[in-house]
Formats: sequence, C-alpha cells, structure tokens
Amino acid sequence: MLKLINFTRKFSKTIIKLSEEEKAKSAFVASALKNTTIFDKIISKEISADIIYEDSKCLAFNDINAQAKVHFLVIPKCRIPRLEDMTEKDCEVVGHIMKIASKLGKERSPEGFRLVVNNGVHGCQSIYHLHLHIIGGQQLSWPPGV
Ligand code: AMP
Repeated sequence: MLKLINFTRKFSKTIIKLSEEEKAKSAFVASALKNTTIFDKIISKEISADIIYEDSKCLAFNDINAQAKVHFLVIPKCRIPRLEDMTEKDCEVVGHIMKIASKLGKERSPEGFRLVVNNGVHGCQSIYHLHLHIIGGQQLSWPPGV
C-alpha cells in the first residue's frame, strides 16, 4: 500500500512538472509570435550579418553557428513567424526565397545541398521569423537528427 502511495506521489509530481514545461513552452511561443526578432534587426541593418545576397523581398546571410562547410539562411523581408503561419498571400515570397536558396545553393555547393525549415517547438525553431537553412559544401548524412 505504501509503495502504491509513493508511486502515485512520484507520478503526480512528474505530471505537474511536465505540464509546467508545456506551459513554459507555450508562453515562449506566444511571446515569440508577438515580438520582432534579431532577423528584423539584420534586415534593417541595425545588427550586422555576413550578407551574401539581398533584393527587395529577401536577404541571405551566413549562419553564425554553421553546421557544415556551407550553411546560410534565406529569409523573407516581410515577417512570417513560422512556416505554418504562411497564408495564400505569402506564396509568392516563399516561392521567391526557395528560388534564391536554390540559386545560391547551386553556386556555393555545386554537388548538392539540403534545405531545412525548422517549425515550432518540436521542430527546434529558435527564431520566429521564417528562414530556410541551406546546408552543404560536403557530403551530408541521412536521416537527419531525430
Ligand atoms: P532555427 O533554430 O531554425 O530557428 O535557426 C536559427 C538560426 O539562426 C541558427 O542556426 C542560428 O545559428 C542562426 N542565427 C542566430 N543569430 C544569427 C545571426 N546574428 N547571424 C547569423 N545567424 C544567426
């Protein structure tokens, strides 16, 4: 009986801890969706970045924490927080960033490259301004990290 009581106590503590973690994650996402990001500051040139391409709709720059020999980001200048927030009106700009990612990817990693979009908490998105990661310059492995 005592064992059962102890187990129940431990189990409810775990459930409370998990729900607190979930609450913290939801609060993080809610605030991230409301606030501007460091990418807005890179677009406005308030913060410098290693920019490799720019036009009226998008910006491409090297990732500050490169995961491969080639690792750069392409972002739209308009704010779309996550891929899942994309609406019909964003199709043109998202098509455009894909095209630029492909053009720069081919130039910088002619043997092939990978395009990654992290979306939301489980997707490990840390900056809530849509961005394409273009990774290459070397042989990549598959499957990616899970
Ligand atoms: P994600 O985790 O998909 O949101 O990716 C955000 C990426 O932005 C990470 O790979 C970071 O290394 C990169 N990053 C963050 N700040 C900067 C910065 N100031 N310049 C370039 N890349 C950055």
